[in-house]
Amino acid sequence: MTVLLAMLAAPATAASAAGADSRGRVLSVCILPARPAMTAAALFARPSAFDCHIDQRVLGSGDFWLLSEKLAGIGAGLPMPVVRTPSLWRTHVTLHVLRADGTIDRTGYGSNAIAPYLRVGAVTELALPAGRSPPIRLLWHVRGAANIRGVLLEPRLIDHESAMRRDGTMRAIYAAFFGMAVALLVYNLALWAALRQAFQPAYCLMLLCLIGYGLTSSGIIIEWVPAMDDIERLRWSGLLLGGSAASLLVFARFFFEPRVFDGSLKSANAVVVAALLSFTALFATAAPWHIRLLDALVTATYLLLVGIVVWVLVQAWRRRSNYLWVFAIAWGAPIAVGSTRVAAAMGLIVWGGWIEHSTIGAMALEALLSAIGIAYRIRTLSRERDVARERETVARALADIDGLTGLLNRRAFLTHAIGRSGPQTLSIADLDHFKTINEAIGHDGGDEVLRAVARALTEAAPPGALVARLGGEEFAVLGDAATSIAPATLLTGLRRARMPFDIPVTTSIGTCTGPLLGEADWKALYRQADRALYAAKAAGRDRACDAASLGLAV
Ligand code: GH3
Ligand code: MG
Ligand code: MG
Repeated sequence: MTVLLAMLAAPATAASAAGADSRGRVLSVCILPARPAMTAAALFARPSAFDCHIDQRVLGSGDFWLLSEKLAGIGAGLPMPVVRTPSLWRTHVTLHVLRADGTIDRTGYGSNAIAPYLRVGAVTELALPAGRSPPIRLLWHVRGAANIRGVLLEPRLIDHESAMRRDGTMRAIYAAFFGMAVALLVYNLALWAALRQAFQPAYCLMLLCLIGYGLTSSGIIIEWVPAMDDIERLRWSGLLLGGSAASLLVFARFFFEPRVFDGSLKSANAVVVAALLSFTALFATAAPWHIRLLDALVTATYLLLVGIVVWVLVQAWRRRSNYLWVFAIAWGAPIAVGSTRVAAAMGLIVWGGWIEHSTIGAMALEALLSAIGIAYRIRTLSRERDVARERETVARALADIDGLTGLLNRRAFLTHAIGRSGPQTLSIADLDHFKTINEAIGHDGGDEVLRAVARALTEAAPPGALVARLGGEEFAVLGDAATSIAPATLLTGLRRARMPFDIPVTTSIGTCTGPLLGEADWKALYRQADRALYAAKAAGRDRACDAASLGLAV
């Protein structure tokens, strides 16, 4: 980008170093609307017929004659300079050259065969025909001028060498632009394949339109398709600029957090996108039909574009978007250029080729800075994903755990218990007279007792056993029957546990052994263990009772 900027700056610095000559001389011209039977010879003889102060645009569309100031300092025999002027919407340009000896030569082109006369940057170039006598005045006959930006702007007399050097510079600038745009396009297409974010195709589309706009607005397309009419080129250029602007808005819509586009901004954005596409398309297809009206519509939509971009930035600031600054910086240049274009279209400033060049420069800068914005956006995206994944893992773990004791809850216990192969021993431990304990030391104290019981059971249970709180003050321990958990061991562990206020806490345990392959097994196993527990309670509490000893079988 630095290279591109340096190159953009280069022509000006080079020119100021070498003096005005290398930039050539801009000729002032006077204008006269064409009427039938006017001839070049007659008009050269009547310079007073021309208006030198009128703004060309007020004359409307049509055919015109334009007379230059008197030329001085072009000697016969010296290399003939060329005349350059930005290409505009017009069908034919004929240049008449009056010589000191009174002879008149002519040259020119039609928009349908402009290839030999169009230079990079969409500048038309006519070489003054060589002759024995030096040229003293120029007269253009411009036909089919739409005259929305003017009929003939800044005709520049420049020597051939300097003109070629300027071409070289322009070519380098555009080459840098296309290189960058193509690289960004390929890179972002690859990123899109990987990340599938909605703003990525919009960005790629914007780059495509920009490349197209660069090719058409610079005139390079005519080098590739020499048969293309210059007016056709202008139609495409307008359409592709509209496409770039519309895809820029679509890009913004998906790039920002959804909260930025909440409410009316979303609809306004869609309306401007639709207006940009339809009015530029209408201009491209229907002009020169009502060309001024169509141009005003297009200008109005660019005004809306500038307005909506400002609105987006304000909304992003209000809704505390993370991407506000990235966008404000990336959009700074296009906003400035967009405003300039609108100002020029409204006649507030004079249209010049430089507006077209700065448009491409600003859009290139925007594309590049947006790419940096995309990198930043992707970084936040991947961070958001990491955090979400972590949260999900934590949430899943929390959903399995009893909040008070940290043991498995009933649901998670069943998930892990049912389906264990081989006979399983289930012990249900229920605290004795827990209501009384709660009454004695309060509910919080009771909670502390439950935690102490959970710790004691976990310590007493063999490795591989599941320990869970089934609910209230009822716990379960499940393990393979082979490595059977002796209820006595659990009881011992519980009796040893330190309780808050050293309150005596006793537990009754009911056990049962059986298969646990399915839901039905669980129901049978639980029922018998519960019966055993009931028996332990009935027998005086603070003891374990096995279902088998009661003659209960699963
Ligand atoms: P038993 O010896 O017959 O089991 O008598 P008990 O008082 O333990 O019997 P019951 O099942 O009727 O009472 C259980 C009590 O456990 C009732 C309830 O207030 C208490 N409880 C249930 N969950 C919690 C809890 O999370 N924290 C506390 N502190 N108490 C609880
Ligand atoms: Mg109890
Ligand atoms: Mg109970």
